Amino acid sequence: MKSVDAHLAEILATVRPLAPLELELEQALGTTLAEDVSSPVPLPPFDNSAMDGYAVRAEDLTDLPATLPVIDDVAAGSVELRAVGPGHAVRIMTGAPLPAGADAVVPVEWTDGGTVTVRIDRRAEAGNAIRRAGEDVQAGEVVLKAGTVIGPAQLGIIAGVGRRRVWARPRPRVVVISTGAELVEPGGTLQPGQIWDSNSYTLTAAVREVGADGFRAGSVGDDPGVLLDRLDTHLVRADAIITSGGVSMGAYEPVKEALSPLGTVRFEKVAMQPGMPQGFGVLGDDQVPIFALPGNPVSSFVSFMLFVRPALDKMRGLPGGMPETVTAVTTGVLRSPFGRRSYLRGVLAADGTVSPAHGQGSHQLAALASANALIVVPEDVTEVEAGASVEVVRL
Ligand code: AMP
Ligand code: MG
Repeated sequence: MKSVDAHLAEILATVRPLAPLELELEQALGTTLAEDVSSPVPLPPFDNSAMDGYAVRAEDLTDLPATLPVIDDVAAGSVELRAVGPGHAVRIMTGAPLPAGADAVVPVEWTDGGTVTVRIDRRAEAGNAIRRAGEDVQAGEVVLKAGTVIGPAQLGIIAGVGRRRVWARPRPRVVVISTGAELVEPGGTLQPGQIWDSNSYTLTAAVREVGADGFRAGSVGDDPGVLLDRLDTHLVRADAIITSGGVSMGAYEPVKEALSPLGTVRFEKVAMQPGMPQGFGVLGDDQVPIFALPGNPVSSFVSFMLFVRPALDKMRGLPGGMPETVTAVTTGVLRSPFGRRSYLRGVLAADGTVSPAHGQGSHQLAALASANALIVVPEDVTEVEAGASVEVVRL
């Protein structure tokens, strides 16, 4: 049997980072910067007021209270400014440019709020409530480095330095297809022998959660021909494909039957539980990676976490590796087959304990849904006592 690590290594050696595109800001959320972004101007671009109040000369506030004539009113966006002479005040709003001559802003709360004259009750030091040009960013300074994932704040600074477009690696487009003659769309009625298709929802959601775009392409029964047609339809718009089911040792294994003859997809046994049967390879002229995951719901989800997620990270231009683990103390006994790495479902608590879920079968989706962690039991361990330290992957 192939080890989990060897299978992941082969996947990571095959998938490539997606080529960068010049994306509009509206399309850039969740993409990975492929250039350093710098600011053409200092930020803030000009000295401005940090508060609503009065721009004054600090030296005019030696005797308090001081009553000064208000010679002008400047709002944010004002361009024509009168200089503040000795003994003058200018009413000023947050973000408005600081008039020449002024060296302090007195917050409105320290005054009577007057518009003709203002009485100032508290002293403001020179520089008070003034935001200096370049205080955040110098002209030419890099604000984001290539390789940064663009979240809301990163999108904000890209817009804040005046950029309309940015070079970034896009979110991978991932098509999810489930197989199985027994599958019915949720919402439909079950006939004897049927179950509702859950994998395509789980996997599409998992794709989206890790920063790629998931498209659910429905279920194709157990017909290899229908699967090949469906793949053909979606291949042009996919950066990766995930299938579920049809990869084990049974008689109706449409994914294996359809893809084995192509010679570019391998079906193997990986030394893990759940999720032993795995298929991986590439399809079409563009060598689109395909992950043929086992059909049991827990198996396909665990396979996604171990193999697909790191691959999608790599496609996004991020380091792709095994999921990070934390150490916890198991509250129950753990069992694992010799020679296979187990990923048992568990609930990780704030006190650092992890309790194995009731129901460790690879079909027990409810147990997975009640868990927030996978407990890793190494290949050479068959039993772990309660109270022992274990590594867990947070979900
Ligand atoms: P397979 O890998 O196709 O042999 O499927 C293994 C088990 O997973 C069977 O019990 C299937 O009914 C179940 N299964 C396969 N696909 C799905 C799916 N999309 N949603 C829920 N269960 C599934
Ligand atoms: Mg099946």
